[in-house]
Amino acid sequence: MTITFLDGMAVDFNLMELRLACPCATCRSMRDKAQATWPTPSSPQPLRISDAELHGGWGLRLVWNDGHGTGIYPFDSLRSWADEHEQRFDAEKADPPSVI
Ligand SMILES: [Zn+2]
Repeated sequence: MTITFLDGMAVDFNLMELRLACPCATCRSMRDKAQATWPTPSSPQPLRISDAELHGGWGLRLVWNDGHGTGIYPFDSLRSWADEHEQRFDAEKADPPSVI
């Protein structure tokens, strides 16, 4: 899923990372108990987003193909994930793996 932010930064998010970081109360309490929020035995594979809608001006509600759709991802969080990814990518570029 690619999100383009207002400043033009386009970020390709990994669906599984997004799903595992689902901010809804159900997933949060499962993570607190160290339970897997995804996949479950009945999870359809591969993981897909079946619907997405803006939630007010601050977030994006994602509906997954297993019907889970209570997570609203604040743009602030998405942006800070994106910035972290960017830094990781820059670090990889700056320090290429050496071939022995
Ligand atoms: Zn959730």
